[in-house]
Amino acid sequence: MLEITDIPLHNRMKGVCLVAAQHAGDVDRQARFPIEVLDELRRARLLAVMIPRQLGGEQAGLEEVADLCRMLSQHCASAGMVYAMHNIKLHNLLVGGAASDWHRQMMQRIADEQLLLGSATTEAGIGGDLRNSICAVERDGDGFHLRKEATVISYALHCDAIFATARRAPDAASSDQVMVALLKDQYTLAPTHAWDTLGMRGTCSEGFILEGLAPCEQIFPQPFAELAAQSMLAAAHILWSSVWYGIAQDAWGRAQSTVRAEARRRPDGRPPSTVPLAEANIKLHQVRASIVESLERFARVKKDPDALGSISFAIAMNNLKVTSSRLCTDVVMEALRVAGIQGYRNDSPASVGRHLRDVLSAPLMIANDRVVSNLSSSILASKFDASLLE
Ligand SMILES: Cc1cc2nc3c(=O)[nH]c(=O)nc-3n(C[C@H](O)[C@H](O)[C@H](O)COP(=O)(O)OP(=O)(O)OC[C@H]3O[C@@H](n4cnc5c(N)ncnc54)[C@H](O)[C@@H]3O)c2cc1C
Repeated sequence: MLEITDIPLHNRMKGVCLVAAQHAGDVDRQARFPIEVLDELRRARLLAVMIPRQLGGEQAGLEEVADLCRMLSQHCASAGMVYAMHNIKLHNLLVGGAASDWHRQMMQRIADEQLLLGSATTEAGIGGDLRNSICAVERDGDGFHLRKEATVISYALHCDAIFATARRAPDAASSDQVMVALLKDQYTLAPTHAWDTLGMRGTCSEGFILEGLAPCEQIFPQPFAELAAQSMLAAAHILWSSVWYGIAQDAWGRAQSTVRAEARRRPDGRPPSTVPLAEANIKLHQVRASIVESLERFARVKKDPDALGSISFAIAMNNLKVTSSRLCTDVVMEALRVAGIQGYRNDSPASVGRHLRDVLSAPLMIANDRVVSNLSSSILASKFDASLLE
């Protein structure tokens, strides 16, 4: 009998996209979690695709997951971002937990039970500065306690486990961090901030005091600085960019439909809006090229800790984040310009209002100013890699 996992990943995701498209408007209006999409992702067994086969997964590559994120985000960017965030955490687990029995068992559980992972890196007083924490792991015998003022945790109330960053110990420096895994029955969430936002409303990225107690074996073995370089930086920037690309691609497609309809009405077949549509298409191609280049770069160095920790790799991944967030926002703005009032209306097939509100989160999701400021220190110490060869 045909198993669901015998069906190619893309075909399974197409089914999920139909469900996402059906509920996207309501998810956005009500700022509610796209629960129907999560149910469908579970049914299609798409939550563990990157896990190794021997642990119950399908050993899919980051490039396949990036494309799945793009597909889903064309229909519901909130659902696409949930899927991206989950896979970023899964990638952290694969890279950081490979040598730990507890983390490998966790991979098996995720595959068996199709568990959803969340992320708590942002913290009150730290904001989006991923590489510093105020909260600290407090060890007591074989267990640890963590209390974190996590001002943004996407879909926290729907997670089966949350991975949080913290200082290694109460007397550790703010940059001496670890990542810990906490299972749903090991933590409490006391709400602090609601999520009534301009866009990405269905991610339900509310703020909480996250408080947990768990065995020390759930602390990732290596320092977070290493995990950030080996997994977080590439996985986050590539998968987020894939989400924004999906939003921009759909907005561009809607604008193209309005221009095609206008072209059919005109004797010369070429409305003036063809030109801005072509301009936006150039940007869309630039985003695609940047994502593909980053995926290839990551694939080349992913087993080489020195290359992953290098300044040039960090610059490349941060450049991707800034480039894709800027260009995708531009593309959606240009799609609105091209589609005109049809794009501005919320009740038109060419509407790009939700796309615009959703994509405006891209430059804030780790503020571009912060990223560029970090880049500005790195570029002084690095040589520009001008070669066109690999
Ligand atoms: C849709 C969405 C989902 C999210 N999900 C999660 C999640 O699941 N888990 C999680 O932990 N976080 C999540 N976040 C938070 C996100 O990753 C960032 O941490 C957060 O958006 C940063 O918040 P902030 O604007 O307060 O940034 P901050 O980094 O605190 O910056 C505040 C301001 O200071 C400026 N600034 C900061 N540093 C510099 C600098 N060096 N130079 C110049 N200006 C600077 C910024 O431009 C900004 O204007 C999510 C965010 C969004 C939008």
